[in-house]
Amino acid sequence: MNIHQYYPVDVVNGPGTRCTLFVAGCVHECPGCYNKSTWRLNSGVHFTREMEDQIIRDLNDTRVKHQGLSLSGGDPLHPQNVPDVLHLVRRVREECPGKDIWVWTGYKLEELTPAQMEVVDLINTLVDGKFVQDLRDPSLIWRGSSNQVVHHLR
Ligand code: SF4
Repeated sequence: MNIHQYYPVDVVNGPGTRCTLFVAGCVHECPGCYNKSTWRLNSGVHFTREMEDQIIRDLNDTRVKHQGLSLSGGDPLHPQNVPDVLHLVRRVREECPGKDIWVWTGYKLEELTPAQMEVVDLINTLVDGKFVQDLRDPSLIWRGSSNQVVHHLR
């Protein structure tokens, strides 16, 4: 997997103070996408085990209380991202007790494959669906257009 940005302290993408990772790769090509530069899977930089270790350390850093991890992009549930994202969310579950995980995807929850659902089964919140320009509503929280749904899963 490749990534574009990692913010160790972020208060914009999800509730509370969070670690936020923007991954590369998205097939949805939504007109008006806010993050077109992330569409190509091979854009950005390689996501290394050292980066993963750093995220775990940042989530557990007692100097900055983090509520959890946000995964956005790009699409964290792009089939080619799923193995690395699954590895990361499993580690967060095992090594960062009490931290929540939010994921943004252009897929709809009901169309996810079994492999994508392995990730979803481990997270707290999924914000799903493509961004639809005609349904854009700046008053919405955590989503850009009204077709998208914030699923609180656990
Ligand atoms: S799903 Fe998100 S990242 Fe992908 S094209 Fe749509 S708005 Fe852009």
